Amino acid sequence: MEGKIAFEEHFAIPETISSAHDARYAGWFPAWPDIKRRLLDLEELRLPEMDKHGIEIVILSLHNPAVQGIPDAKLAAEVARKANDTIAEFVAKRPDRFAAFAALPMQDPDLAIAELTRCVMDLGFKGTMVNGFSQVGDPNTVVYLDDPRYLPFWEKLEQLDFPLYLHPRDPLVNREPVYDGHPWFLGSAWAFGVETAIHALRLMASGLFDRCPRLNVILGHLGEGLPYMIWRIDHRISQTPRGIPARRKMADYLGDNFYLTVSGNFRTPTLVDAIMEVGSDRIMFSVDYPFEKTVEAVKWFDELHISERDRRKIGRTNALNLFKLEGSARAASR
Ligand code: ZN
Repeated sequence: MEGKIAFEEHFAIPETISSAHDARYAGWFPAWPDIKRRLLDLEELRLPEMDKHGIEIVILSLHNPAVQGIPDAKLAAEVARKANDTIAEFVAKRPDRFAAFAALPMQDPDLAIAELTRCVMDLGFKGTMVNGFSQVGDPNTVVYLDDPRYLPFWEKLEQLDFPLYLHPRDPLVNREPVYDGHPWFLGSAWAFGVETAIHALRLMASGLFDRCPRLNVILGHLGEGLPYMIWRIDHRISQTPRGIPARRKMADYLGDNFYLTVSGNFRTPTLVDAIMEVGSDRIMFSVDYPFEKTVEAVKWFDELHISERDRRKIGRTNALNLFKLEGSARAASR
């Protein structure tokens, strides 16, 4: 399919990637040197790959955890601004092919609101990608986005009418002894999904979407397992609600306030389950470049046995509408 739109597609700047990454991945992540090269590239490697595989527009975002892993709020704000300015300058040269999500210093909600507003209103960004919880003040203090301090931030996001992509990050090792001795389940194999699913459930249970019913949150990887489990979650909460603040079922929020992408989860039965839970209007294409291979994502998606109408919606038009991309040059002609 030509004209696809993808938006879990990551980049890095020198301030967010360092020799610490090389040391961390040495010995167990053989693809890391190539991934690092592709993260630091914006156009030279990326654009030919988009052309080859029918991806017309990419919305770029930082890799994880980047800004969310900088406990000092002032420094987090500086790095976020640097990344946002870098990508804004690049997007301005190719607005027909690229857009951007803001990186935000969630360590300080006021600074986050100011940067979000600047990015959307002044730089034309399409929303924000936040990499899970933020470390705030010191490396061991974590704050999730259902914390009441973020309510003004969410209200601002709802007012601006752009989504937040809730991207995974690993739990802090000292908070998750369940992974001790089994490092292969950390990261994107398992820990990412569990961490992000419970984060999304915290947002739902907090009553956030009752206060801000027009908010949209995006989850990657076909919903981090939530479509598969959502009935049971509601079923058991209905038996033991324990004072949950949310007024509606978790499935209602999943269907009304969330979008899911197929990033990094190129599996037809899983997609069918997601379509059955939230409908094809709320599912969208993405790759998770460069951590996933574009060719693998596209081969699966382009050959999927779904209706051409659904392929078009998932591959393109849902994203076109959500991100108001109609102004992009080639998009306007379709
Ligand atoms: Zn990703």
